Amino acid sequence: MRQHGKLEYGDHAAPQRTCVGCRVRTAKSELLRLVRVGNDVVPDLRGRLAGRGASLHPSLSCLELAERRRAFPRAFRVPGPLDVSRVRAHLEGEPPMSCRTPS
Ligand SMILES: [Zn+2]
Repeated sequence: MRQHGKLEYGDHAAPQRTCVGCRVRTAKSELLRLVRVGNDVVPDLRGRLAGRGASLHPSLSCLELAERRRAFPRAFRVPGPLDVSRVRAHLEGEPPMSCRTPS
């Protein structure tokens, strides 16, 4: 019977994450989890992709903020710029690239 560590967690009801765009702490469930695949940042819609994640409000303004602050390379600990076009497409509600036809 071991009892320890209880105080550390206190009464935290739900896990929280900080949005990499606006830096506001929000319940994890309200944020979009992003992961890095190569040089792309992609939305982890099912929460099943492995690796370091970043959290973002599902809004274009937070995505733009994150880009402006270069928050993604920092969040994913990589030196270079990352392509967020798949995240943007997701937030804009566009179909996947294979379905898109140039007009
Ligand atoms: Zn945000």
